[in-house]
Amino acid sequence: MNTAQHRALIQSVVDTVREHADELTTLDMAIGDGDHGLNLRRGFDAVLAQLDTLAAATLPELCRAVGSTLIMKVGGASGPLYGSLFTAFGKAIPPEPALADAERAFAAGIEAVKRIGRSDVGQKTMLDVLAPALEELAAGGPGLAARVKRRAAAAAEATVPMKAIKGRASFLGERSVGHMDPGARSSSLIIAAVCETLEG
Ligand code: ADP
Ligand code: MG
Repeated sequence: MNTAQHRALIQSVVDTVREHADELTTLDMAIGDGDHGLNLRRGFDAVLAQLDTLAAATLPELCRAVGSTLIMKVGGASGPLYGSLFTAFGKAIPPEPALADAERAFAAGIEAVKRIGRSDVGQKTMLDVLAPALEELAAGGPGLAARVKRRAAAAAEATVPMKAIKGRASFLGERSVGHMDPGARSSSLIIAAVCETLEG
């Protein structure tokens, strides 16, 4: 990937976080403390402020820098979690990745989230989108980017009937049922932005 592609990737993720910040905050108002959109926007605004430097870096450098920026700026539970996801992805991805490299790096990112969050799939968190998206990526085949994007969106919807076991929403117990998990939604949005950019 070249500088222009890096730039497009960063811009599309930042744009989607900004466009959906209010929606994410509204979701977090229902089963959390109503800051998820604000948290992510603060983090990705700080990413955008480094656009020129990040775009000129290698892909692993770019992802690690995004990770440390998110750890420093996002706050909340999602800051360290998204930060670790990008950092671990950046450590595992080579500068010119093949599909198998992307799959391995994404798996390393998900493992980092599980480790930092002491969490796993099935607990109504971002992991309930990240893990199915990885599964779809690993399946390979035609139309992959569009399929990963669709799978992530469906997985976010599938968190609605789940009961939260981790994070702030777990304090609500049964009352967390019937609402989409904000982190699941933000993960599906970020995945969609990446997939759309890579498709184009
Ligand atoms: P906070 O809950 O501290 O206010 P945010 O609102 O920014 O942080 O992020 C909440 C999201 O973080 C949740 O919707 C969930 O997807 C994710 N999350 C919270 N705790 C965990 C965890 N232990 N493992 C994985 N994801 C988590
Ligand atoms: Mg919150």
